Amino acid sequence: MPRRLCETIVCLLVALIGVGTWLISPFAVVSGSMSPTLLGPHCEFTCEHCGTRNFRPLEAELPLDGRLSCRGCERTGPRAAELPVTPGDRLLVDRTAFAVRSPRRWEVAALRLPHEPSKIAVKRIVGLPGETVSLSGGELYIDGRREPRPAELAHLTLEKPRVPEPPTQWKLGGDEYFVLGDFPAVSDDSRLWQAGPGVAAQLLIGKPLIVHYPYRTLLWYGRPVHVPDVSSIRYIR
Ligand SMILES: [Zn+2]
Repeated sequence: MPRRLCETIVCLLVALIGVGTWLISPFAVVSGSMSPTLLGPHCEFTCEHCGTRNFRPLEAELPLDGRLSCRGCERTGPRAAELPVTPGDRLLVDRTAFAVRSPRRWEVAALRLPHEPSKIAVKRIVGLPGETVSLSGGELYIDGRREPRPAELAHLTLEKPRVPEPPTQWKLGGDEYFVLGDFPAVSDDSRLWQAGPGVAAQLLIGKPLIVHYPYRTLLWYGRPVHVPDVSSIRYIR
């Protein structure tokens, strides 16, 4: 093959990989704020009574006796200290999603934090530009009317345990989105930001497509080897 053609093919391949990585970027989930939808470093156990799989973000507060309870049947489970720590999920994020359409209510988005744009977080969009958002009794209100949750999100708590006092009503600007974590007890999100609740549209990076972590640790001649755990792959709609 002529050298020129080889060079062209190599350049094209490099460009394709570059563009591909930009369009679909990998990110690691570093906090438990979206648990149980997306997991940061966490402990997990399967309840011996009802079979529910339970996940506990590392930053969640422990009960006094250190024992975890099952979110399915509320019975007491193992001590947190006895459980190994599982690393956080890794995501592939589609950066083109919001270039072709506007973000929708209830969808999960990767974004830059407004007060710290170098940090990337994953949150759920609940308020759209121009809306007035309020949270009361674990329910979302938009412009004063209760906004029903999709059935698949019925298990989420939209309460605000870390908001000490009012205001619990927020007015969004013309290109701002209100975002919440699925695990409000540890989530740093629109409810808490001093500079205002809104995430400007330009800070929304894209939509997580695939969760492709954690790795499973195997022993290879006595050394730990991390291989992708295919059973852990989940898709986000
Ligand atoms: Zn249980």
